[in-house]
Amino acid sequence: MDKRIVLAQGDITRQDTAAIVNAANSSLLGGGGVDGAIHAAGGPAILAECKQIVARQGRCPVGGAVLTTGGNLKARYVIHTVGPVWRGGRHNEDKLLADAYTNCLALALEHHIRSIAFPSISTGAYRFPIERAAPLALSTVAAFLAERDQLDQVRFVLFGERDFSIYRAAYERLTQEPS
Ligand code: ADP
Repeated sequence: MDKRIVLAQGDITRQDTAAIVNAANSSLLGGGGVDGAIHAAGGPAILAECKQIVARQGRCPVGGAVLTTGGNLKARYVIHTVGPVWRGGRHNEDKLLADAYTNCLALALEHHIRSIAFPSISTGAYRFPIERAAPLALSTVAAFLAERDQLDQVRFVLFGERDFSIYRAAYERLTQEPS
């Protein structure tokens, strides 16, 4: 596994990476879960920019990503992405989840961001099974990093102990696989 990928347990709003990722919804108007936590901690500047983005380019498609200020957060930027809602697994959910991670990383590179923290996209209210999401998230990021050297660290920040141990097991499994 790429050494630049790091797992941590905790609250993403407290991370000191240059950018943190928000698991948003297409309206970009805020919501519950990690989205609510980021807007609460970051202050109103983030929502104001989200509204400007929606006025300019419309709602954010599933798998897409947009960038705003980090407001009052330690992170300078928030990258808002929209993961897929789980609908049984045959509605392109895997591809859309991978797109969400990849588009966040591509946007980070465009803005010369060298460190980024991700939550576990789609595995809360959107009900994507975390046992399936974890290896997909990790392998998607690893594949992206394998071709680029502009990023120093990609941190996965898992909120709960159970989520953290599922990601850790997936990380170890991918480490054992010959690449
Ligand atoms: P989605 O709608 O994409 O499923 P959620 O916010 O409902 O997004 O959940 C995504 C993941 O974020 C869940 O695993 C949830 O436990 C986690 N989460 C919630 N709050 C935080 C936080 N402050 N920091 C990190 N992860 C969080």
